Amino acid sequence: MAKMPKPDELLKSIDWTPPDKDWMDDVPPEIKPGRFCYPAKKNILEEIGFPNPREWSPLDDDWKLPPNSREIIVDGIIDRLKKYRSFKLFMDICVRCGACADKCHYFLGSGDPKNMPVLRAELLRSVIKGELTWQGRLFGKLAGARKLNEDIIKEWFYYFYQCSECRRCSVFCPYGIDTCEVTMMGRELLHLVGCNINWILEPVRNCFKIGNHLGLQPHTVKENIEFLCWDIEEVTGLKLEVPFNKKGAEVLFVTPSGDYFADPGIYTMMGYIMLFNYLDIDWTMSTYASEGGNFGLFTSHEAMAKINAKIYHEAERLGVRFIIGGECGHMWRVKHQYMDTATGPAPKNLETPRSPITGTVFEHAKSTKMIHICEFTADLIAHGKLDLDPSRNDKYIVTYHDSCNPSRGMGFFEEPRFILKNVCNNFYEMPENTIREKTFCCGSGSGLNTDEFMDMRMRGGLPRANAVKYVHEKYGVNMLACICAIDRAALSTLMNYWVPEVQVCGVHELVANALVFPHEKKGERERELNLRQEPLKPEGEENA
Ligand code: SF4
Ligand code: SF4
Repeated sequence: MAKMPKPDELLKSIDWTPPDKDWMDDVPPEIKPGRFCYPAKKNILEEIGFPNPREWSPLDDDWKLPPNSREIIVDGIIDRLKKYRSFKLFMDICVRCGACADKCHYFLGSGDPKNMPVLRAELLRSVIKGELTWQGRLFGKLAGARKLNEDIIKEWFYYFYQCSECRRCSVFCPYGIDTCEVTMMGRELLHLVGCNINWILEPVRNCFKIGNHLGLQPHTVKENIEFLCWDIEEVTGLKLEVPFNKKGAEVLFVTPSGDYFADPGIYTMMGYIMLFNYLDIDWTMSTYASEGGNFGLFTSHEAMAKINAKIYHEAERLGVRFIIGGECGHMWRVKHQYMDTATGPAPKNLETPRSPITGTVFEHAKSTKMIHICEFTADLIAHGKLDLDPSRNDKYIVTYHDSCNPSRGMGFFEEPRFILKNVCNNFYEMPENTIREKTFCCGSGSGLNTDEFMDMRMRGGLPRANAVKYVHEKYGVNMLACICAIDRAALSTLMNYWVPEVQVCGVHELVANALVFPHEKKGERERELNLRQEPLKPEGEENA
C-alpha cells in the first residue's frame, strides 16, 4: 500500500486548476500508486475462463495485451451498441453542458479532469467516433475522435476503475445519462483483453466455485454464525439459534458475506438473528446461497446473472415461500433492476412476499419475490409489533448514509430513517444536498474497497466525510448508520481518516440493541452492554 499523506496534506494537494494541455494530447495517463487496483491474478482468470490470463502490472510499460487488442475491443463495442440501447443512447446524446462535471466525488477529491463524468464517458465516446463514424475518420481530433491504441486502453483501465459506479452524476444530467452504465461497458470491454482487477474477480471466482465472496466453506459459514450467537448470549443471556438449509421454511434469508466476518458488519448480522428469533418466524439461511452481494455487477451482465441465480436455485430447492435480503448495497441494485430480467423468472414455489407477523403483502415485490429487511422491519414497527427501548442506544448520536445503490438504484429512502427514529433518540440528517438521491459515495464502491487504492478512496470519500464532519461538529454525531456491507467496511476506514470520532454501524445493529425480548419467553437478562460489548449508557452515566 502506498504511504498515505496526513489528512491536511491530502487536502492541500487537491488542485482543480485545468491543465494547460488538451486532454486528447495528454495520454498516456500518469499512473500513480494508490490510485489503481492490482490486476486479476493469472490463475483466477484461468479458473473463470476469462481472456488473456497473465502476470502484469499497470506500472509496467508492457501490459502484455493481445496483438489484436484494437480489433477485439472494436468488435466488442459494435456488439454492445447493438445489444444495449442505453449504451447507444448515452454515447449519442451528451451535449457537453457540464452539469455533471463537479458532481463526481473522485473529481472533487483528486482535481483530475478525467474524473469528470463528462470526460470519463468521452474517453470511450471519442474512440467510438474515431473507429465507427465517418466524421471521426475524416476529421479526427477536430471531431473529438481518436483511434484506439494501447495508451488509450491503459487510460481506460485507470479511469474506469476510478469510477465507483455510484450514479450521482446521473441525478444532475438533464439528459439522464448514467455514467455508471458507461463505466460498466468500459470494464466489459477491458475484460476482453484481460485488463481487470483482482479485488473484483477473485470474489467472482469464489462465488462461482464456493458460493460467497470470501470463499467460506459451508461449515465455516455455520461456525461463524454460531460464534455470533455466543456473543449475543454473552450480552443478552439469550440462547438463539440459526436454522441452515431447512427445507420447507417460510423465509430464506440471504445477506452479504461481509456480515459474517468483518467488524462492524457482524453486529448487523447479530441484529438479524435477534430479530428473527424475537419474531419466532419460520426462517432459514443457506450455506449454498451464502452470499447476497454480487461482484458480477462490476464485471459483466453475464457474471451478474450467473451469481444472482443461486438465490433462486436455493429458494426452489428449499421450497420457501419468499426471500428476505439483508443490508447490502449492490445486491439490491441487482435485485431491483435486473433480477427478474437477467435472472428471472422466479421459481414457481415462490409467492408475493407477505409478512407472517403483520399480514402486509409487499406488492412491489410481486415479480422478484424478495424484500429488503428494512422494509420488513419498518412494517413491523409501523404495526406496533416490536417492543423497543430506544434509550439503549442513547450513547449514540446517529446520522444516516444513503448507500448509493439502494438509494439511487431503487429509491429506498424512508424505511431506514423510520426505523432509526424508532430505535434511537438522537438522529440528525446530514445536509440536504448530500443525502437521499444526492448522496455521496463512500469512495470505495464497485469493487474498489482495496488497500492499494487507499489514496483515491480517501480522496473520493472526502465529500461524504465532510458532510459527516458537519453533523459531528454541529450535533455531536458519533455514529454513521448505513445499509450496505461494503459501506460498513469502507466508511469505517474513511471515518478513521477524516472524522475519527465517528463510528459506523448497520441499521439492524441498533434495532437489536433496542429490542426488548419477552422475559418469560426467551430469558433475556437486564442488558448492561450493547452488541459491541460496550456499556449501554453514555460515558459518565450509570446503567439503570
Ligand atoms: S457514477 Fe459516480 S463515480 Fe462514476 S462518474 Fe458518476 S459520480 Fe463519478
Ligand atoms: S450533464 Fe449529461 S449532457 Fe451534460 S455533460 Fe454531463 S453527461 Fe453530458
